Amino acid sequence: MSDAKIKAPRGTYDVLGEQVAARLQLESRSRTILEGAGYERIETPTFEATELFARGVGASTDIVRKEMFTLEDGGGRSLTLRPEGTAPVCRAYVEHGMHKRRQPVKLWYLSSFFRHERAQAGRYRQFWQVGAEALGSEDPAVDAEAIVLLNTLMMEMGVRDATLRLSSLGSVESRAVYRERLQAHLHANEGDLAAEIVARIDLNPLRAFDSDHPGTRAVMETAPRLLDFLSAEDAEHFAQVRELLDVAGVPYVVDSTLVRGLDYYTRTVFEYTSTALGAQSGVGGGGRYDGLVQQFGGPSTPGMGWAAGIERILLSCDPHHTAPADLELFVAVEEHSATLRKTAFALASRARSAGLATQIELAGRSLRGELSHAGALGARYVAIVGEGHTVLKNMQSGGQETLATDTVIHAVLRAHSDL
Ligand code: AMP
Repeated sequence: MSDAKIKAPRGTYDVLGEQVAARLQLESRSRTILEGAGYERIETPTFEATELFARGVGASTDIVRKEMFTLEDGGGRSLTLRPEGTAPVCRAYVEHGMHKRRQPVKLWYLSSFFRHERAQAGRYRQFWQVGAEALGSEDPAVDAEAIVLLNTLMMEMGVRDATLRLSSLGSVESRAVYRERLQAHLHANEGDLAAEIVARIDLNPLRAFDSDHPGTRAVMETAPRLLDFLSAEDAEHFAQVRELLDVAGVPYVVDSTLVRGLDYYTRTVFEYTSTALGAQSGVGGGGRYDGLVQQFGGPSTPGMGWAAGIERILLSCDPHHTAPADLELFVAVEEHSATLRKTAFALASRARSAGLATQIELAGRSLRGELSHAGALGARYVAIVGEGHTVLKNMQSGGQETLATDTVIHAVLRAHSDL
């Protein structure tokens, strides 16, 4: 058998040390902000029927065409590791009859997602997103509120150099009219476009707005804009979303070239970018998806949501310094006899039951080694368990007293409450 080192797969990473603290902080802020606004946490499975994403995310999208991790279960069914969170949430909404609850139903998640992408800084194959979805109301206040909540999270985390871009894609009908006009414009200028854009004129012409190919960009400058094709109702909806963002004091720029990479959006779409991130500048984004629940066999239900990348949020804000958890008691032994080790183990267990953060010597160190280890861990007290007594040492003052072992916890707790 080979004993060569096995590494984590390409595009994945381990979360270690300080990163754990930063992620916990992001999770706890997300929870405070979203649950404070009435969003409930939801967990969906890591994999779903492939059909869910093929139908929901859209066959013409990059995600479905080339980025899904798909596997077969033993019975010939096709499963896919979730590449995004909206389709699973809509599936759960239908499956659990949530349309019978008070509307809108507001749900949030913080989970890992999987896309088979070219791994690079800020782009992974397993990544994490915090997301929020509000189903069951087409009120523009739902859109504005969701955007305000993401904005609050961005501000609280200290995301640097962020811009919020906002647009409306209108309804499926007005988009169909627009699509034809855009296709005509692209066909008329095919000679100047990148080959990959020409190949996708019929499949997904809107993605031409995302290209950085200079010829394509020049053609897109004179392309018709979707915002000019909105129906009166959609234009009014968009105006109200903007007004509410204005009264909430959230700055944004209207960007008529904004197209999101997923097919299900209608009306409002938005994206947060941070120039602190370099090439992968998208921190989070989302929009309204009024037809999606129906596509999964549910009643006609409007929806609105967003997702933001955990890695990108953390990369675009200054590191948060959190103090390591306090260690109240370190239990050492005077010498490593079987009896003393047992007494020490029992003492540590009782200390934990009494609510003290406690660690115990686990590597057979000498007494000196134990004390220096406890010092490195920042322990407040060290209990040195001996034959028939225990020495309790205060690591801050250096003072120590000899006690009956079964009074040690009481002594630490009393000192604790005097603090
Ligand atoms: P999307 O679902 O594509 O709109 O992505 C929403 C957010 O998820 C993006 O703005 C990124 O912050 C994050 N994201 C998407 N794909 C990846 C990836 N492969 N690696 C890391 N973060 C990602």
